[in-house]
Amino acid sequence: MFTEFNLHERLLKGLEALEYQKPTEVQKAAIPPAMAGDDLYVIAQTGSGKTAAFVLPILNRLLQEETQPQAPRALILSPTRELARQIQSDIQNLARFTFLKAELVIGGEDFKVQAAKLRKNPDIIVATPGRALEHLGAGVNLDLSLIQTLVIDEADRMLDMGFSEDVIKIASACPEARQTLLFSATKGSAGLQRVAENALRDPRWLELDSVRDDTPAIKQQVIASDDNAHKEAQLKWLLTNESPGKAIVFTNTRVMADRLNGVLRANEALRVYVLHGEKDQKDRKLAIERFKQGASGVLVATDVAARGLDISELDLVINFDMPRSGDDYLHRVGRTGRAGAEGVAISLVAPHEWNLMTSIERYLRRQFERRVIKDLEGSYKGPKKVKASGKAVGSKNKNDKKDPKAKKARAKKLAARKKPSVPKGAVVASSDGLAPPKRRS
Ligand code: AMP
Repeated sequence: MFTEFNLHERLLKGLEALEYQKPTEVQKAAIPPAMAGDDLYVIAQTGSGKTAAFVLPILNRLLQEETQPQAPRALILSPTRELARQIQSDIQNLARFTFLKAELVIGGEDFKVQAAKLRKNPDIIVATPGRALEHLGAGVNLDLSLIQTLVIDEADRMLDMGFSEDVIKIASACPEARQTLLFSATKGSAGLQRVAENALRDPRWLELDSVRDDTPAIKQQVIASDDNAHKEAQLKWLLTNESPGKAIVFTNTRVMADRLNGVLRANEALRVYVLHGEKDQKDRKLAIERFKQGASGVLVATDVAARGLDISELDLVINFDMPRSGDDYLHRVGRTGRAGAEGVAISLVAPHEWNLMTSIERYLRRQFERRVIKDLEGSYKGPKKVKASGKAVGSKNKNDKKDPKAKKARAKKLAARKKPSVPKGAVVASSDGLAPPKRRS
């Protein structure tokens, strides 16, 4: 019960209004130490209730204070605008019986309007790192000198998007004597450790449901595809025959997201929305709202655009392109099967993606169900021979080694790999905000 936490009665009232009856695992584990002022390093994923796990201790602390100083007292950093919006909305809901205010500092919105809102002295700031730094650079807009709690949410994704230096800079602009709460869906890489070392002080490590945890409520299937045209036919079939409700289709690029949006819109029975980083902020907001409100619909999205969105009641997740890592896979499929309902996640796997798919299977230590759509069986049915690892035999042509032309090409490729493709200090994210296609360690 939430009453165990000794939370302010206005917060208990807010929880009651939201009909949260009992705390989730991450809330049980994180709220008491966060209320005691400890720094935390929490491994928990979207959907676990992690937002309330950091918002409630912040609100509780602010409610204990009698005076309201002339600067914000809590800063929450989010990798994407959509997640930032979601956090702000969760704060408003939890704080509905208080006078506490949270303001957004995110890209894609008018800088001056934001600066004016900041002058009204909100208690909490929810920000994306880039825009927060712009306001800090402007000098007068964002005063972090009274920050008591800094939250770094979805820290692993933040770093994948190239924000690690920005996060460190922002953390060092906050007072040293603050509390820092870091949330990540995975244990993360060396980069995350570096941020943790810079931003956290003697943190408590709480590992809850790392995304490698099994996802038994989700049926996970793969369907072999010949090529993109074959995938499009399979996708249309699945959306018409499989999903009476809501579905998300993930692509690796915004170009493909736009293409599928066009292809699927040709079917009048489907309500199709598209979400990617190149879309105007207003369009993105509208697409999310409409998709959420409707009883059915198809959202075509890239990973980053869909990151952090709390879209529940999804019946189906389709990977049109195989995600680039096991963690990305889990972030995608974790959107279905929420709240005890069984969901289905289907990956369409072209020949060049088969090995990636099996490496994701190994990472998750599970085998996906192989499935065939009878009416749409293609010529590719998976590799004829597989190694013990599950990878296709002969994926590398041994004869290449003898061929001088192939040898030269290999040497060129290797040399190119050694060269850094991004200038030192540059933000490593493509124009639609996608992480570069590299596997995480
Ligand atoms: P989050 O992981 O913070 O994105 O939360 C996922 C969803 O769970 C959101 O829709 C929250 O409103 C909801 N939620 C969070 N905490 C609770 C709770 N204790 N009981 C029921 N629902 C919750």
